[in-house]
Amino acid sequence: MKEVRVRFAPSPTGYLHIGGLRTALYNYLFARHNKGKFVLRIEDTDRTRYVEGAIENLIESLQWAGVEHDEGVFLEEGKIVQRGEFGPYIQSERLDIYKKYVDQLIEKGYAYYCFCTKERLDKVREEQKIKGLIPRYDGLCRSLSLEEAKEKIANGEEYVVRLKLPPNKNIEFKDMVRGNITINTEDLDDQVLLKSDGYPTYHMAVVIDDHLMGITHIVRGEEWLPSTPKHVYLYEVFGWDKPIYVHLPTVLNKERKKLSKRHGDVSVGDFRGKGYLPEGLINYLALVGWSPEDNEELLTMEELIEKFKFERVSKTGGIFDKDKLDWVNGHYIRNYDLDKLTKMSIPYLKLTDHIDNKFIEENYDWIKTLVETVREGLSNLSEITEKVEVFFNNKIQPEDDEALNMLKLEETSTVLNAMKEELSKVDEVDEEFAKGIMKKIQKSTGIKGKKLYMPTRIALTGNNHGPELVSIIYLLGKQNIISRIKYVKENYM
Ligand code: GLU
Repeated sequence: MKEVRVRFAPSPTGYLHIGGLRTALYNYLFARHNKGKFVLRIEDTDRTRYVEGAIENLIESLQWAGVEHDEGVFLEEGKIVQRGEFGPYIQSERLDIYKKYVDQLIEKGYAYYCFCTKERLDKVREEQKIKGLIPRYDGLCRSLSLEEAKEKIANGEEYVVRLKLPPNKNIEFKDMVRGNITINTEDLDDQVLLKSDGYPTYHMAVVIDDHLMGITHIVRGEEWLPSTPKHVYLYEVFGWDKPIYVHLPTVLNKERKKLSKRHGDVSVGDFRGKGYLPEGLINYLALVGWSPEDNEELLTMEELIEKFKFERVSKTGGIFDKDKLDWVNGHYIRNYDLDKLTKMSIPYLKLTDHIDNKFIEENYDWIKTLVETVREGLSNLSEITEKVEVFFNNKIQPEDDEALNMLKLEETSTVLNAMKEELSKVDEVDEEFAKGIMKKIQKSTGIKGKKLYMPTRIALTGNNHGPELVSIIYLLGKQNIISRIKYVKENYM
């Protein structure tokens, strides 16, 4: 079998969309599964939509996500570099190549020069709309001879080059998700291949590049499905082998609408900023439109690579379910290497008023325990900012009446007094002390179970539920615990 070669070919028009990351991921998984190559190409022929910095952002986002390419465009010390034997991989650097192939098409009669002005095209479209027809080019310039056209060009007239589709011809291709597809040329437009600014359109450039770069499988969003027949026709007239097409279902929100900025997060950067882990986001995204045979939902990148097959990509839209993402990401947060997670949490911890660089330097181990203690309930790291607040504010507020009533019980007072008594025996709370103190209180007071643990938790945090009591006691330390007991006694008991 030929070596598998796939590509992700974004246009640098802004940030990397979550749907774009999924397309890149499926390309990557397929390439790795088949021991093939994954190329990153930049499609920047639409100069009006070019955004400064977008290429860097694309590469960084892919890198962060762990979706690594083998060839194409890379970042090295902040600079864009290209690697691979099929370059350049940035389309605006390949204009001569496209020009050569456009000329070939013209010579062979598969394409023609068109001199129609924008005003004329608008008028034609308007008239077609009034007649209830699908707006398309009416073919006026098809009848110009090559000599006539060349004369016009010599006179400085502006032109584009259009594809000359044959009448009433069925164009057929196979899509691995959609099956066999047939479209008649009567339903297609004479696509512009070369624009008046000398740049090719996407349709021309994509075919030339995919062919010259040896791409075997074209894996992209289904919004490109309607354009595919034109691409297939170009392969046919050039006499090139057609690639295998794989059109992926659009990523939709729960209302089955396209994900849009107005309805929440859409860019990889948004999720990264919120503190989703790359492993969590990737695991979840893989499941948006695909599932493994065993329906397993928690999968590492290695497992995804092993199990990934296009045969199991769904035809209908992949639904992006934020709750499910949170669940998957929570799993990764709970199981992550603690030191790594602590370092990743620091920017979010610094958003509190209590933690700065000096504090981190002096209390790194304490912070690590803090992260370990609160990670249980997190779905992303930005939630940590609020979660740790309770460890810094000694003015305890019972979260509800249940908590308040618990504080008012007689046993509570007994328990808290015993706690103070135990604390008076030590200079500072260490881990061992924290582990043993509740047992000691139980012994000295005879109070156990809910009546022992609930009041302690509420007096120390205000909450009925939360992290392990042992960790809370260790993290708060002697002085804070004493202050809290004093505060709840004065205010609620
Ligand atoms: N440049 C296109 C985009 O931005 C790529 C389409 C394709 O993969 O063929 O989506």
